[in-house]
Amino acid sequence: MACPKRRWSKERTHLKRSTWKLDKLNLSKCSNCGEAVLSHITCPSCGFYDNKQVIVIKSKEKETK
Ligand SMILES: [Zn+2]
Repeated sequence: MACPKRRWSKERTHLKRSTWKLDKLNLSKCSNCGEAVLSHITCPSCGFYDNKQVIVIKSKEKETK
């Protein structure tokens, strides 16, 4: 098996650890309300998925009296 000739310098290790970025979330817009939603997930604000009402969402305004 091939084997590394020498170990990485501290600088190289620290450089590698310091330069990285989070992947962007797969956000798309809801076809009904235009809210940013995760793909393949029912819209949390209106309950629409695939242009159909899948779940009924109780609005928070009515709950708070
Ligand atoms: Zn929506």
